[in-house]
Amino acid sequence: MTINHQTSAPSDKPKFSELLAYPDVKARWEKVRKYFFLRESTYDMSNRCNIRCDGCYYYEGDKQFARENGSPEDWRALMQAEKTRGITYVVLAGAEPSLVPALLEVCYAEMPLGSIATNGFKKIPESVGYKIHISVWGNDETSYQVRKAKNLLKKQIENYANDPRAVFVYTFTRENIDEVQAVAAELVASGCKLTFNVFSSPVGYAGPLRHDRESLLTTRKAMIALLKQYPEHVLFSVYNAVAHTSEKALHDLYNCSYPRCNPSQDIGLGRSFRQYRTDLNWDRSVACCVPDTDCDDCRHYAAGSAVVTARLYRHVGSLQAFKSWLDYVDTYLAVWVMGYDKGENLCREEIEPPPVVRRR
Ligand code: SF4
Ligand code: SF4
Repeated sequence: MTINHQTSAPSDKPKFSELLAYPDVKARWEKVRKYFFLRESTYDMSNRCNIRCDGCYYYEGDKQFARENGSPEDWRALMQAEKTRGITYVVLAGAEPSLVPALLEVCYAEMPLGSIATNGFKKIPESVGYKIHISVWGNDETSYQVRKAKNLLKKQIENYANDPRAVFVYTFTRENIDEVQAVAAELVASGCKLTFNVFSSPVGYAGPLRHDRESLLTTRKAMIALLKQYPEHVLFSVYNAVAHTSEKALHDLYNCSYPRCNPSQDIGLGRSFRQYRTDLNWDRSVACCVPDTDCDDCRHYAAGSAVVTARLYRHVGSLQAFKSWLDYVDTYLAVWVMGYDKGENLCREEIEPPPVVRRR
């Protein structure tokens, strides 16, 4: 994670030491700050997928046409070079990484911290010790309609129940909000952990999955209700719900710091982040964790994990804001880092995301 120092707290707000005078806050701060060394980049592993979903951002733009480099030695060399330039965390994605298990093994051998985004249809070998994010887009009937995959949830649970690597990521679209209760109940009954994502339209997408103001509010309610109902299984916080279901998207709320939105190469993601395509090339002008997503509609959980966590200094203006930020970071680490356990959330209030405060 990268803390951005471009903003600071106004002087009439509590001092940082006053916020840390609360033992629960101090303990959480000490817990999360150990991970400030994380520096991510993302890698498309394969240009193939074993299903085809409506609204998939991988099959938008140029990246889908990149040649697939299947050479383990080239991937090993890339991972070694990434380590040398300071990358400590890899996100292996697009299109479907489970189709290239040998490359996943190579990445894991070189770079032990990371995660894989998969549709969960084909199990990733247990020897690959990354977090595994399994995408769920509704119940099996909806999955069949939108993703053309039969009995997908059943298959995903069969592959990943009781697997400490697995986090099921339920993506709320405009059309599947009322299905989440039953899906969550099924996942919880199988002992699975889950978190939430919000469908973020690919550039040019205007289809039925795109959220509107009403669906965002309903999504927020559903998220918070499930968080209360299944606190042991749902990796989320009230502030996560607020950040990802506001009418304004993440870039408007927090100033996205990925290169695609951020010309500065001085510090943080603008300097270190790269998004490699399957041919092992990258292009700064389109680099972010969800390329070809419409920035005006971006509420993606992967984007928030970098964009919100970077805004520490915007959240030190009040105790509730700082607690909310700590909950967000604690959630992010529990979802993305093997062996990190989610703590009890510190703030149950819905706060407004604090506005930008510029240095004088
Ligand atoms: S599983 Fe993922 S990569 Fe494959 S088509 Fe669906 S959204 Fe795209
Ligand atoms: S799509 Fe999201 S993460 Fe990517 S540049 Fe736009 S706002 Fe940032």
